[in-house]
Amino acid sequence: MAERADNATLRTDFALLIDGALEQSGKHLDVINPALGAVFARCPAAGRAELDRAVAAARRAFPNWRARSAAERGALVKQLSQRLREIQNELAELLTREQGKPLAQSVAEIDRGAAQSDGMVSIEIPVEILVDDAQRHIELRYRPLGVVGIITPWNAPVNLALGPLVSALYTGNTVILKPSPYTPLTTLKLGEILRDVFPAGVVNVLAGGDELGAAMTAHEGIDKIAFTGSVATGKKVLAAAAATLKRVTLELGGNDPAIILDDVDPKAIAKQVFFASFVNSGQVCMAIKRIYAHEQIYDELCDALVAEAKKAKVGNGLDPATELGPLQNKMQYDKVVDIINDTKKAGATFLTGGEVPSGPGYFLPPTLVTDIDDDSRLVKEEQFGPIVPILKFSDVEDAIRRANDTRYGLSGSVWSSDLQRGADIAARLEVGTAWVNQHRTTSAFVPFGGAKESGLGRQYSALGLKSYMEPEVISVAKR
Ligand code: NAD
Repeated sequence: MAERADNATLRTDFALLIDGALEQSGKHLDVINPALGAVFARCPAAGRAELDRAVAAARRAFPNWRARSAAERGALVKQLSQRLREIQNELAELLTREQGKPLAQSVAEIDRGAAQSDGMVSIEIPVEILVDDAQRHIELRYRPLGVVGIITPWNAPVNLALGPLVSALYTGNTVILKPSPYTPLTTLKLGEILRDVFPAGVVNVLAGGDELGAAMTAHEGIDKIAFTGSVATGKKVLAAAAATLKRVTLELGGNDPAIILDDVDPKAIAKQVFFASFVNSGQVCMAIKRIYAHEQIYDELCDALVAEAKKAKVGNGLDPATELGPLQNKMQYDKVVDIINDTKKAGATFLTGGEVPSGPGYFLPPTLVTDIDDDSRLVKEEQFGPIVPILKFSDVEDAIRRANDTRYGLSGSVWSSDLQRGADIAARLEVGTAWVNQHRTTSAFVPFGGAKESGLGRQYSALGLKSYMEPEVISVAKR
């Protein structure tokens, strides 16, 4: 059990948002600061009764909200992103305390969320004329679905809430938003801004445990679930949604490969590859989780990545010098320690890391591993932590086959000084996004999501926005 802060220092200024009112409840969640391994805040938790009231409020608010024009709804979203920028520093500090990531990365997460929100509301979803001849006028329109339930994970709670939230609101839906029980606080603070900006009932924010997520996916008053989290939970969400034939978008885990070809300068790309692997201490769905390096540049790349790992300062995210924070929670920390031990047992070589520092806090150093089999846990599973294997190849066909030899398919990258060669190989990766000479680059205008078991559907862009809408054909016979 984590130690608890005494009552004098316990932060409790948090509330649920239901039907435009900030509320307490009979239950609560204790929130741990992962840099200290100690409880530092407590917030109210919603149960079935709060969920039912929130869904009823969202249903009541729906007709008026959908009746507004997209431009009006977009203008309110822009007010939201403006307010987020105004309180960015305060919110970032809270995000670092509950999530662990370095303060600069918390600021960047909020900033990126605000920019993507602004971007999304500049996208138009026009009526499409399919036929217009002497006999018929047929058009395709998109209308909102109703109430959208949004369920988020603990690795990037602000950004991963804003993507689906803005998509749902801009397209005319009302929302129930539930953060992870590990990181509910910034989302509840977001609720306070949402309350000021949007009409009562349009957005409701409920903190709660896994059972609240399950109740949302089964709820008859919710029309769609936008879920971001693990593959295992995503499958449960899909199964539960079948009972009411809810629409679902699933943004799930990844095991991203990066294929580094023989024509790159390892020193020139090492910083970028290192950051794409270890940012947020590897707790990023689209982090590089397997590095495949050509034998000609293998040793030099290993040396350059080791140099980056040695430079990276691990510590409390509130310290401005920190580049890598702790693992977010004890469960994830234990899972990664287990993978480290399994990797040691398999006889792999640890170029860096391998030791498990004694607490407090859930810290692990950036760990680079070589001499490891493709069927090891580290290569097969989504490690979601600061340990990455560097695997050697001599034939690029072999690298492509090994990169695709997984049930995951979120994203991947190819690194080459020959852009056409890079793009040709990228096109053969079985993923939702294949990058060349970059990794982890996303935008409001580019669809993002997973192939295979990494997800279902896409977020962002017109494609993503349309997944919050029902296509409807209007067919008029001309007489
Ligand atoms: P998780 O699946 O354990 O939990 C995610 C959310 O689901 C939490 O809010 C949780 O309370 C809720 N939940 C748990 N059980 C539920 C159920 N039966 N029904 C409905 N909701 C339920 O995931 P996590 O550990 O919080 O997040 C880490 C995972 O998220 C990683 O696998 C990561 O790759 C993935 N992720 C994916 C993306 C993406 O865009 N593809 C982005 C970030 C994280």
